[in-house]
Amino acid sequence: MEELVQDLRLQLEKQCSLNKELQTQNKGLEKRLDEKEKLLKELQARLDELDCPPDRSSNDSEPEVRKSRAAVIAPEPLPEDLEITQARVKKTISETSLIVKAIQKNDFLSRLDDEQITMMVELLVAIEKNPGEAVIVEGSEGDSMYIVAAGDLRVTQAGRDLRTLTSGDVFGELAILYNCKRTATVKAITKVRLWCIERQTYRTIVTNKSKKKREQVMGFLKTARTLKDLSDVQLSKIIDSMEEVKFQNKEVIVREGTEGNTFYIILKGEVQVTKKVNGQQKEIRRMGKGEHFGELALIREICRTATCTAIGQVTCFSIDKEVFEEAIPFENLELPDDSNIFEDTAVPEKKSQSASLRLKDLVPVLYQEGRYQGDPVTLGVGGFGRVELVTTLHHGQYYALKKVSKKHIVAKRQEDHVKFEKRVLQEIQSDFVVRLYAAFKDTRYIYMIMEFCSGGELWTKLKEIGRFDEPIAVFCAACVVEAYAYLHKKGILYRDLKPENLMLDRRGYVKLVDFGFAKELVRGDKTYSFCGTPEYMAPEIIQNQGHDFAADFWSLGILVYELLAGSPPFSSSEPQKIYAKILDGVLKFPPYMSEAAKSLISKLCRPRPGQRLGNTKNGIKDVRHHRWFSSINWHKLRVAQLDAPTVRLIRKGPCYINFDRFPYDKTQAEEDFSGWDDDF
Ligand code: ATP
Ligand code: MG
Repeated sequence: MEELVQDLRLQLEKQCSLNKELQTQNKGLEKRLDEKEKLLKELQARLDELDCPPDRSSNDSEPEVRKSRAAVIAPEPLPEDLEITQARVKKTISETSLIVKAIQKNDFLSRLDDEQITMMVELLVAIEKNPGEAVIVEGSEGDSMYIVAAGDLRVTQAGRDLRTLTSGDVFGELAILYNCKRTATVKAITKVRLWCIERQTYRTIVTNKSKKKREQVMGFLKTARTLKDLSDVQLSKIIDSMEEVKFQNKEVIVREGTEGNTFYIILKGEVQVTKKVNGQQKEIRRMGKGEHFGELALIREICRTATCTAIGQVTCFSIDKEVFEEAIPFENLELPDDSNIFEDTAVPEKKSQSASLRLKDLVPVLYQEGRYQGDPVTLGVGGFGRVELVTTLHHGQYYALKKVSKKHIVAKRQEDHVKFEKRVLQEIQSDFVVRLYAAFKDTRYIYMIMEFCSGGELWTKLKEIGRFDEPIAVFCAACVVEAYAYLHKKGILYRDLKPENLMLDRRGYVKLVDFGFAKELVRGDKTYSFCGTPEYMAPEIIQNQGHDFAADFWSLGILVYELLAGSPPFSSSEPQKIYAKILDGVLKFPPYMSEAAKSLISKLCRPRPGQRLGNTKNGIKDVRHHRWFSSINWHKLRVAQLDAPTVRLIRKGPCYINFDRFPYDKTQAEEDFSGWDDDF
């Protein structure tokens, strides 16, 4: 017995020391593993830096991901054909040079085109301020921008000195784009002289100029024999694809005998046409504004039959053969779109359920607090409304009730948009757009009863996990493509794409909500309002050039980027910087983004609207056929037979579990009897 105990003890001691030895070995291994992991991280960080260098040009430290909801800019109802009554103020050479220098060194203004800068110079008016006088006041609404001609000013924010401004500095420039609150106060220190321009003036001029320019180029295009059978819609598409090119004096634009693939229209300047005759260059003729050359290059492989050289500075509008072929199918632009299959197979609306819906039959759904019932459930609070969860007493169906204060609508001049949102949503029957079942009003509010999307906002899900893996992003974007196919076919522009406006239904399908900025547009027409969300705005909106369906495709590119990266490609805490980046158009991709995703985003975010995927000759089909979507069976998606990878994002529990909690608002809006909603 004793021996056995002794033996066991020995064995135990042996095992213990073995254990200790293993433990120290383990510790050593763990330490080495830690070291290896650290090294790996370091290497990865260095690799990332080489692959995707941080933006050193702007020294603002930008957040990795967009943490807050994006601000929205509502369109101002500006009369579109307003005439400018204001006289142009003549400026001396030195005044002009100060203004131009100021514009060139400003982050945002320097991106405007030459014509816009010239107009700005012409329209600036001089104002003077005495020491101590305020030019702009923090918190007030801004409508002018200023350039300091002489004197010094102080910028303060919440009483804190920020900086001083002096001759050649620009301030308040955001106000020429849209109605925004001033973020700082600017006061004169000395007597100052300022150059000032109002938004209304700037916008009217730019818009009118853009419109006139389109009309003019349209006229020029009509003189080209090859293009004479094209409709205005097709010609307008060509204009959207054309790019401005500048040539210096004596620069050869096309050379005789070389292969040609570009068509040019002269916008400014003179071009000399020469041909080689017996080894000598001989002038055949000269061409001026409105004349074109190289049109055969658009339809055939050709060699240039003459040389065209710039005389003095020349500006042309040009288009390459490949781009032209992308933009115009010779047969017919109105290609049959396969989205009609979609309409045939759309789930028929359950009329019985919605037709009889009355406001008084709806009761609020309450938060469940243990065994008690709490406040009514608020699903979301937007810039305009509050959305509450309601149900009917009879069949227990859930609805989202959007409630907007009528006074607030009037104050923000959004009457027409609200009416339009209701009208358009009522007409829409798509599985990719939230349904509107009924609309009501009383003296304080207008109400919209919508389908309840129980999966919550895509924005919340994105913020929860940082960024989506590719299958989820592909699926979400595919749903948006289907929504676009439906809306664009009906001539509706959406204009407010972003994760905040995408909701998940119970099966994880994505639906567009919030049609506050939607607009009806005839193909070939343009609209000129400045609206949307800065990060998602297409360059032509920022430049007031007029925009159309192509702007929606731009924002689709931004959405795909944000879903995959967690933040949009052009971002900054200062809106001016966002706009400057958009106008520069340089996309930087994180190293983990796939080639296919990068290709799709680059094609959707092309600066020229006519070259953007979705707006080229096959329309939205080109988007569907892009390889990033190769895993999507579009037909199955349309008939809701695809399993949505997004279901993983949806929590199970009470019907409001996928929504943030909002405090209940007991206050009542003021009454409004102005009558704007008589036809609501
Ligand atoms: P915005 O400031 O974006 O213009 P808005 O006042 O027009 O907002 P919506 O964007 O329509 O309001 O709705 C506000 C929020 O309410 C949404 O972001 C969403 O969280 C929630 N919501 C809206 N519609 C629904 C719906 N049908 N089902 C569930 N929740 C919804
Ligand atoms: Mg919204």
